[in-house]
Amino acid sequence: KDNKLDQIIKTIDENDIKFLKLQFSDIHGLPKSMAVPLKKAADVEDIVNDGLLFDGSSVAGLASINDSDLLAKPDINTFSMIPWRPEAKGTSRFICDIFTTDGKPYDGDPRGVLKKSLQLAEKRGYQFNMGPEPEFFIIKKDEDGHYIPADEAEYFDVEPLDQGTDIRREIVLGLEKLDFDVEVSHHEVAAGQHEVDFKYADALKTADAVITFKEAVKALVNNLGFKATFMPKPFLGINGSGMHCNQSLFKNGENIFYDPDTETQISQEALYFIGGLLKHAPALSSILSPTVNSYKRLVPGYEAPCYIAYGFKNRSTLLRIPASRGLGTRIECRSADPSCNPYLAFAVLLEAGLDGMDNKIDPGEPTEENLFAFSEDELVEKGISSLPTSLWEAYHALEEDEVVKNAIGEKVFNQFYNIKRAEWDAYRIQVFDYERDEYLDV
Ligand code: ADP
Ligand code: MG
Ligand code: MG
Ligand code: MG
Ligand code: MG
Repeated sequence: KDNKLDQIIKTIDENDIKFLKLQFSDIHGLPKSMAVPLKKAADVEDIVNDGLLFDGSSVAGLASINDSDLLAKPDINTFSMIPWRPEAKGTSRFICDIFTTDGKPYDGDPRGVLKKSLQLAEKRGYQFNMGPEPEFFIIKKDEDGHYIPADEAEYFDVEPLDQGTDIRREIVLGLEKLDFDVEVSHHEVAAGQHEVDFKYADALKTADAVITFKEAVKALVNNLGFKATFMPKPFLGINGSGMHCNQSLFKNGENIFYDPDTETQISQEALYFIGGLLKHAPALSSILSPTVNSYKRLVPGYEAPCYIAYGFKNRSTLLRIPASRGLGTRIECRSADPSCNPYLAFAVLLEAGLDGMDNKIDPGEPTEENLFAFSEDELVEKGISSLPTSLWEAYHALEEDEVVKNAIGEKVFNQFYNIKRAEWDAYRIQVFDYERDEYLDV
């Protein structure tokens, strides 16, 4: 640890870094931070050792007003410079864990929730890997002040149709300064929509990376005069933005989802993991698709899943097993979207999957037909049920699911449930143009 700290002090010194941000996430997975001015590089040592006290009661879903004093302590592995801030007298950051004032891990901290779930995997000798594919739109305002996609390009288009080439270039260069291992970037299916994929890693590192990714993309795109949005379905009639979650378990460096001796080269453990994900899918929805808007993405016809099923080559199912084998063997969950809190999302995915393994939950046969072509009767016949179609359904499913509730813990569950109920109630009473168009003449 001391060696690492010495390295950090050296970096701060050599790069003329004047600010140190201490960052954590609220219940929505939005970054919150306090900036400490560094008088000298060595100041960082005290900050790492002591942490910083703060009032948690004004952070969404974190703490209550009558029990609000919390301590943010840097995780020394998360140090990085912030490339979208000025280079001279620059800014750096740590991601922090949150503790109570008597030094115990705080049970309302989403990062702490994930750490606790990961211990369950570690106890079984597993490393839980996550490779997310966050999509986003780059948008601008038209003459009337309405947001529209910044270009008209389609999947894999090139410039000049793709107006995002130079923006993605800046994003990728910025992410590399943040030590991201970017695998590929491209224009996505919808106008103005983009994807930048980075290499999978253990779920804690990846959850930190998702928070950083969204923050970096928003800031870098803003600096170029556009706006980036991770809203799941910003426009009617075109694809929404997902964040597919690719998952695997490694044991002693080997991928336990891979088994060269079965017909599909998928292991029995992987099938049980899928069984768990399918069983808990309704409750998982509340965490993976946590906004009112998420459910406008999960509709037929846009490569987003609506039904609880798994398949291999099938992109209409909730879960897909991509063709890659060996170390790349993985289960892709396609319902998750980038409005989720990655700490909570990865925690519930893991615990649902482990429940499947512990209880040998049979996932049934894979579905290889296009689910969107099935009639209601055919779905019933095949025993395929729908994902929740609204936030209301999803948070009620969460309430009923002990495994998923237990994964986020009582404190986070209560905060989350109350916030989501309020979000639903606020939406429920709105009256939209659409309704006047439909019902004025009844
Ligand atoms: P798609 O075909 O769905 O677009 P991509 O190739 O864009 O898939 O994304 C694949 C993602 O899966 C990347 O983030 C990659 O790092 C990740 N991935 C690859 N192997 C594993 C693995 N063993 N465990 C978890 N994620 C993995
Ligand atoms: Mg204050
Ligand atoms: Mg992809
Ligand atoms: Mg995509
Ligand atoms: Mg994918």
